[in-house]
Parts: sequence; C-alpha cells; structure tokens
Amino acid sequence: MCGIVAYVGNKEAYSLILKGLKRLEYRGYDSSGVALLENGELNIYKKKGKVSELEAGLAGKELHATIGIGHTRWATHGEPNDVNAHPHFSNNRKLAVVHNGIIENYAAIKKNLISKGHTFQSETDTEVLIHFIEDIQAETGDSLESAVKLALKEVVGAYAIVVMSVDQPGQLIAARKGSPLVIGIGEEEYFFASDATPIIAYTKNVVYLDDYEVAVVRDGKLSIQNLDNTETIPYIQKLEMELEAIEKGGYDHFMIKEIFEQPRSIADSMRGRLRSSDSHLQLGGLSNHLDKLAQAERIVIVACGTSWHAGLVAEYLFEELARINVEVEYASEFRYRNPVIKENDIVIAISQSGETADTLAAIELAKSKGATIFGVCNVVGSSIARATHAGAYTHAGPEIGVASTKAFTAQVTVLTLIALATAKQKGTISEEVFRQLLTELENIPDKVEKVFENASKIKEIAFIFTYARNFIYLGRGLNFPVALEGALKLKEISYIHAEGYPAAEMKHGPIALIDEDMPVVFLATKDSSYEKIVSNIQEVKARKGRVIAIVTEGDTLIPGMVDFVIEVPETHEILTPLVSVIPLQLLSYYIAVMRGRNVDQPRNLAKSVTVE
Ligand code: GLU
Repeated sequence: MCGIVAYVGNKEAYSLILKGLKRLEYRGYDSSGVALLENGELNIYKKKGKVSELEAGLAGKELHATIGIGHTRWATHGEPNDVNAHPHFSNNRKLAVVHNGIIENYAAIKKNLISKGHTFQSETDTEVLIHFIEDIQAETGDSLESAVKLALKEVVGAYAIVVMSVDQPGQLIAARKGSPLVIGIGEEEYFFASDATPIIAYTKNVVYLDDYEVAVVRDGKLSIQNLDNTETIPYIQKLEMELEAIEKGGYDHFMIKEIFEQPRSIADSMRGRLRSSDSHLQLGGLSNHLDKLAQAERIVIVACGTSWHAGLVAEYLFEELARINVEVEYASEFRYRNPVIKENDIVIAISQSGETADTLAAIELAKSKGATIFGVCNVVGSSIARATHAGAYTHAGPEIGVASTKAFTAQVTVLTLIALATAKQKGTISEEVFRQLLTELENIPDKVEKVFENASKIKEIAFIFTYARNFIYLGRGLNFPVALEGALKLKEISYIHAEGYPAAEMKHGPIALIDEDMPVVFLATKDSSYEKIVSNIQEVKARKGRVIAIVTEGDTLIPGMVDFVIEVPETHEILTPLVSVIPLQLLSYYIAVMRGRNVDQPRNLAKSVTVE
C-alpha cells in the first residue's frame, strides 16, 4: 500500500525517484510527489493521480538534485488531492517528510501544535508528524535525528518515514514501525524504498529496517539505531531477484504475465524441496518443527483475501492427509475476537507480501497466547516472515499485478507440501499415496501449461460475457475455495459483482438469482463429488442459467448439458485447485481487459494492505 522512494548520492535524484515510484505503482495509490534539494532550496512537487501526471506537470522543468524523497499516497486521512499528497513540509518549511501508514494520535498532537502557532495546509496525519518533529527540535535544541526519535516515541500507529532537511544537504533520516522500508547500499549512494523493486536496478546490497529502528545517512555513511540510541550493525543481504522479474517482458499487463508464469512459479515453489524418485520431501524452514505439526491437535490458519482462499484449500489438505482439525480465520476477525488459543495449537499465517497488517496483528495475538506460528509468505525478509517462529517461502517471484494469481498457486503448492510432510511424519499417509502425490506435484507445471492451450477459447467466452453484471461461481470440496477465488478475481479487476458458493448451498438461497441472464461458472472436474455437481448443473440449467463448466479433459457428459466448457487436465483430486483455478484467472483477466479496466491497478485496491 503506497510507496516511498528516497535517494542520496551523485545521480540525478528526480528521474531516479520517479522511476522508482513507477515501480511501486502496483502497490496501489492515488497521488504522488517528490521533495528535492535544488541549489540549497527545498522544493516539493506533488499531484493527485498517477505518477505520469506528476511527470507531465513537471515536463520541461530543470530539476537538478542529488538528494530527494518521493511518495505514492494511498489516502487514509483527507481525500486524495494535490494538497494532501506527500511530501509535506514542516511549519518553517525547512523539513520535508514522506510517510506510509497512520499516526493514530495525530489529532491531539495537532491541537497542541495549533495552540503554539503552527498552521497546517493539509488534512493529513503526516503533516502533523513533521510539524511535531520541528517543534521538538526547536524546544530541545537537539539534532534532527534526536527530534525524530523523540517524536516517534510519542506516536501511536504505524509508519515508514523518510525525513530530509534543507540545513543538512547530505542527510536522510528514515524509520519504520509496522510498514516496510528497505535500504539499498550502492557506491557512495543510498536508496530507501518500500520494497526492493526500485532499488534492484542499482544495487543488490540491501538492509531491511526493523520496527523501531532509525537509519541515518550522513556524509556518505549509514548508521542504524533504535529509538533509545542503541546502535545496531546493519545486516546487509544480497537481493536474489533479477530486474526482468519486475518488468512486463512483452505482455500487456503484469497480471497476464504472472498467470502465464505459473508453470515456472509453481516449479520454483517446489524446487529443491521434493523429489518423487526417492520420495524425498523437505521444507528447510520447517524440518525441525514437523513433530510439532504432527502432534498438533488443531491448526489455525489466519489470512486475508486470496491468501484466505489458499488457507481454505489447506484446510481440506490437512484434514484429509494428516487428520488434523483446521480452522481458517479472517485475520481481521480473529484479532478482534477473544480467540481460544492453546499452547499446542499451531497457527499458520499466509500472506503474499508478508506485510498484511491484520495478519501481522493476528500473529502477535496468537504468539502472546503461546502458540507456535508458521508463516507462508512470498516476499523474502518481510515483516511476517520475521515475526513467525518458522515458515516456508513460496518463491513465486515478485507479484506486481494487484490481483493475486501466481502467489495463490504457489501458496497452495507450499501448503500442500507442508500437509504432506506432516502426514508423513504422523504416519497418516501410505508410502504409495505419498509417492503418487509427489510425482503428480512434479507434473503440475506441465498440466498448468496445458490449460493455456485453451486461452483463446476462454477469451471468446469472456467476450460473450463482457456484458454481465453478476456472476455466480460454484464448486464442491476442494473446488469450493477455487469458486471463491474465481469470484474474487472477477470482482477485483472487472468490477462485476460475483459470488462464490459451495454448489450445494445454492438451493438455500442463491438459486433465486438464476435466470437466463445469469452466468454460472461450475467447477465440475472429475472428483469424488462429480455426480453431485452434475445434479447441481441440471438444477441451474432447469432455470435457464447460462453455464460455463470447468471440466476434466475427455468429459463427455457435461459438455452436452451446458453452454460452454473449458477443459483442464486430469490430476489427483487433492491437487485439483492448482489446475482448476487457472481458467478462472484467465476468464476474469479477459473480461476485465474487454471492459477496459486498469487490470494491474484496479480502483481502490492496494497490493500489500498495510493498514488494518
Ligand atoms: N496517513 C497518510 C495520509 O493519509 C499516509 C497514507 C499512506 O500510507 O500513503 O496521507
């Protein structure tokens, strides 16, 4: 959600920051801006709308600076407009700040500052923070760094900030709590960003800032201290991602690129972890914890959005394979209940970004009650990866499209591996089925590739249904979470209202919606509930609904009953979601494109939801 890019070094800061902000566009935002130190003057340029609008407004201007801070804002306090956009000045206009997050106690601080004569231009909480820093510095006579620390000690909420001052032309001060910030270390230059994508083109050496840490770059040197001035030695890590991984590579949108990447990303999520030839399965991060998993009486999965759907798939897997009772919770609900958590409960937190605020809070709650927490995240070094006791990365590579596709299939793959490893440890799976499933997992990337052969057919179906205002998705068993995920994809990017249901639930209400205008997508692959779903299809057809069925290759019965079929290759029932979700991703993508939607950055949505 929203993004920060800051730079200090020898390069032209403006173009570098702008390029970086464009790399962060996928996170979702509504306005953007930069602050530059030009010939001893601190200037701020900002605008509502896309980064390209800011750029167009500044075209032809000579903007020369070697230090600057930039921001894409996702409004929380005050509407998205030019004034509320970041950066913000302090009262005397000597300091500027960019901020991700929310300062919850801003109103009380603002009131106090107004009584001292401060005047505010915007409605934001952020502007209050930078005025507060200026005020503390004036009162104490301390350095800016100390003032920042003192201010942050008073602040309630979440933040990633970068502060610059007209009086210290080579200095940037950054801090975080609950919102990510990465520092890139180049040759006599430093970068700050919300994730590594703006940095990767310049350096692979990065430091992930921790909560309550303050990083200061001064005179070409980086130092990190906590709010109480204790120095920490920066832990420099090497980025493993390549630049190509965050570029479109000839596709029209990141989303379609990422859909087509799935044979590779699914393979990557298994790489080095399984080998069917000798029944080898090992998840490095979890191998020391398998006993705990096997002995668990209960697993609680906490997640949001698409990750929650992956959690629902995992519920079936753990129950079926390892015979463990599983509950899947929306992280946002879980954290505000008074959940019963016992010490021998295992909590699995799933999040693509690893920064999801509600999931992070759910982890802290479960931790405080003594549970063991495992994480399944995509972004290496993310907050959730660090907050959990152990975990497994999904290794899907950077996912830029806001609507999650390859992260979902990678999550399902990794959760399948965890369920299998647990079942093996517990002895609830036969050697034969275990090996069979490992072999079939190895075949999944090819089977996903095979689904792509239907892409043009799916495009034609999408064309026919571009008019639709509602959609229903129905599935049973493991295909029920897939139905939910298909409906979510369509909602997210095409803005068509869509509902997912367990197919049998239809009779308890949704069937009232069926008429000749209602498209109904059935997940009707050959599995243990096949006959049941065939009956459900008949019930919809009897009411003239228009049915699109996802069927197993070679099905001869369903094609005669429905309006459209999309075939997927046969696989083991347990692994069905990995192939049956693919046509649904494509269907929603093509419908959204035909409706002229901004597929990669759908309205109101953010990629990594760092506010609760
Ligand atoms: N709360 C701040 C605002 O509304 C920052 C929002 C953001 O994270 O972009 O301006």
